[in-house]
Amino acid sequence: MSLLISNIGSLVTNDPALGEGPLGLLADAAVVVDGERIAWVGPAAAAPAADEHADAGGRALLPGFVDSHSHLLFAGDRTAEFNARMSGRAYSAGGIRTTVAATRAAPDAELNANLTRYLAEMLHQGTTTVEVKSGYGLSTEDEARALRIAAGHTAETTYLGAHVVAPEYADDPAGYVELVTGEMLAACAPYARWVDVFCERGAFDGDQARAVLTAGKAAGLLPRVHANQLGHGPGVQLAVELGAASADHCTHLTDADVAALADGDTVATLLPGAEFSTRAPYPDGRRLLDAGAALALSTDCNPGSSFTSSMPFCVAVAVREMGLTPDEAVHAATAGGALALRRTDVGRIAPGARADLHLLDAPSHVHLAYRPGVPLTAAVWQGGVRRV
Ligand SMILES: [Zn+2]
Repeated sequence: MSLLISNIGSLVTNDPALGEGPLGLLADAAVVVDGERIAWVGPAAAAPAADEHADAGGRALLPGFVDSHSHLLFAGDRTAEFNARMSGRAYSAGGIRTTVAATRAAPDAELNANLTRYLAEMLHQGTTTVEVKSGYGLSTEDEARALRIAAGHTAETTYLGAHVVAPEYADDPAGYVELVTGEMLAACAPYARWVDVFCERGAFDGDQARAVLTAGKAAGLLPRVHANQLGHGPGVQLAVELGAASADHCTHLTDADVAALADGDTVATLLPGAEFSTRAPYPDGRRLLDAGAALALSTDCNPGSSFTSSMPFCVAVAVREMGLTPDEAVHAATAGGALALRRTDVGRIAPGARADLHLLDAPSHVHLAYRPGVPLTAAVWQGGVRRV
C-alpha cells in the first residue's frame, strides 16, 4: 500500500541534494511512502499517484526525531531530590542509587509498562527512534533483565553496567569493573548493541572507562561514552580514541577536546535537559559547530537529572542557551541523532529511508524553537504506519 502526502508547506529532508541548505528544505513538497520506506520526494506538482492520499494542509513535515540517549528502564521517581535541588542542594551522581533500589525491586511487568509509557510520550512529541540504556540494575541479573526488556521495544539498546559502582562494591570499585567487564557483560551482550560508561569524577575514571569500553568492543558492542558532564576529564578524548559513535554531554571541554571531536568521527551529543534540571551551565554548541564537530541533541530522559521526554523542548533550549540556530538544532535532533547511532535509514526524508515522519501543526520547523512548550505535533508515521 502506498501513501501520497501532499500540500507540505515546508519539508525538511536533511538531504542537501533534495533541497536548500544543510536541511535540504523544499517548499510546496510531496512525499510518497511505500510500505515502511519512502519511495519518492519532490515538488507537489510532480508527485506520482498513490493508493492513499493525505493532505498536509500547508504545514511542515520533518523526519521523526532520533533520541540517541535515554535511560528509560527504571522504576520510581526522584521528585523529592529534584525539589531539594531546586531549593539549593547540589547534584551528585550518587542519586542514581535511589533509582537502582526501586528498579531492582520492581517486577518485569512494571519496568515494561514504564518503558512503554515513556516511549509513547516520546512518540506523541515526534520521536520515532529511541536509544535506551540499562544502568539501574548494577547486578548481572538486573542489567541483563533491563536490556532484555528494552530489546523488546528498540534495536538501540545500550549496556551501561558502568553507570555508577554498585552499592555492594562501594569499597571495591576494581572488583565492580571486573564484574562489568566479565560476567555481567557476557550476560548483557546478547541484548545490547552498544556499550557505555559514565566517565566522571565519582563514577569511573579514564582507566576504568577504557577497560569497560575495550571489553565491550571485544564482545561485539559498539562504544559510546558519558563524557565531561560535571567537569573536565578524559572521557571525550577516550571516546574519540576508541572510535566511539558518540561522546555525550560535552559540557566541560578544553580546546584539545573540541579539536579531537572536530577531527574524529565521534558525534558530540548535547543533552540540555540535564543542565536545565540541575541548574548547571549549558555546553557551548556554537563552539563545537564552529570547530567542525558533528552535533546531536537528545533528552537524556532519566528520573534523576533530566526527566523530560521532549525533543521539542531540547531544540528550544539548544537555540536559546547553546548558540544553535533553529536549523542547526532541528538537524542535530534528527540527522545528528541518526549519526550518533550510526544509522543512515532514519533522520532524513529521502527515497529508501524509513518512513518516520513528523507533521507539525505549524508552517515551519523553526516553530519548534519559536513556540517553546507548545504541543506542535499534528501527526507521526513510524515505518510508514500512522501512529499519532
Ligand atoms: Zn545519560
